Amino acid sequence: MLQVSERIAALSPSETLAMSQKSNELKAQGIDVINLSVGEPDFFTPDSIKEAAKQAIDENFSFYAPVPGFLSLRKAIVEKLKRENKLDFSPEQIVCSNGAKQSVCNVLLSVVGRGDEVIVPAPYWVSYVEMVKLAGGANVIVTAGIEQDFKITPQQLEAAITPQTKALILCSPSNPTGSVYTQAELKGLADVLAKYPQIIIIADEIYEHINYIGKHESIAQFENIRDRTVIVNGVSKAYAMTGWRLGWIAAPQWIASACNKLQGQYTSSPSNIAQKAAEAAYLGSQDCIETMRQAFERRRDLIVQLASDIPGLKVRKPKGAFYLFPDCSAYLGKSFKGKVIANSAELAMYLLEEAHVAAVGGLAFGAPDCIRFSYATSDDQLTEAMRRVKKALAVLA
Ligand code: PMP
Ligand code: GLU
Repeated sequence: MLQVSERIAALSPSETLAMSQKSNELKAQGIDVINLSVGEPDFFTPDSIKEAAKQAIDENFSFYAPVPGFLSLRKAIVEKLKRENKLDFSPEQIVCSNGAKQSVCNVLLSVVGRGDEVIVPAPYWVSYVEMVKLAGGANVIVTAGIEQDFKITPQQLEAAITPQTKALILCSPSNPTGSVYTQAELKGLADVLAKYPQIIIIADEIYEHINYIGKHESIAQFENIRDRTVIVNGVSKAYAMTGWRLGWIAAPQWIASACNKLQGQYTSSPSNIAQKAAEAAYLGSQDCIETMRQAFERRRDLIVQLASDIPGLKVRKPKGAFYLFPDCSAYLGKSFKGKVIANSAELAMYLLEEAHVAAVGGLAFGAPDCIRFSYATSDDQLTEAMRRVKKALAVLA
């Protein structure tokens, strides 16, 4: 019989991308949908970065690049890690990929095998658990609810560790919650991990610069786990470059070499043009980062204020990234025209169809009581979106 592999049959499609696609389909039919589903900056890539890409085309950067990326780009990333994070890496420890998404997957495929467990704090970014499944590993979900600011404690972490634990995926600032671990909280986790030398720490720092409480803290700063921590980052969020597809890892040499080998048989390097653009992003003026951060902070304040005004939504002020992740459980089990809205995915679908606001139900993030709104859009759109959501929720009975 013609059928897909068990691996693909077991894989769930990306809910963030699915909701965004549905929203685009409705838009194509002429419906005025406000898309707060997919998380990406609404800004254009800065001109100086675009110029570098144009120049790369004119200078014939059209041949295969080294699998982990041009040395000049990896050196620029090494410099960035030194300058911004006070961390020392060599260019051989950097592997550039087609987005941080591929970077996370490369690492999981490189270190996780059948029977291995990966600790994934929930709420989590949709793709982590699917990638763990692809690697043949088992997800061990550690849940941190809204009452603990969606952050796991050292005690919870330690209780989840078994002899089979191979890795922990930590995302701070977090998608979907917007929570940010403090230096002291990260130290608490690092001190637990220090006792279990078989665990690889995958630190997803793609929202590093979208932080409203101060400077970015990386768990890689702690010496006791430094030699088994992999930093994942990229240009998508910091420089408004989601479509350029350029992410990277800074990793222990053996993991970088494994990802290099994997990529060498799979995708080779990311696009040369994106690489030259990313190099310009890291070497050029960093002013755009602060400009965008300030815009996101203003929008954060706006959406928190508007959503707090909606009865029944439990809103927590996010400290980073550009997502609001309110608890919407007061509305689950209610009905519209006799049809029960049983879970947050159905609530997101109801909001899309009736309010024409696209959001993503928390179920896909391992948080069935919540719903995610991306606020990386204009103040006007946010104001109108929350007006519509309030009105649509009010008619549920
Ligand atoms: N990690 C997290 C937490 C994200 O939100 C995203 C954005 N989708 C990624 C990784 C992947 O980013 P990229 O666009 O670089 O693949
Ligand atoms: N980070 C974005 C999100 O979570 C991108 C979508 C994706 O790659 O899944 O919406």
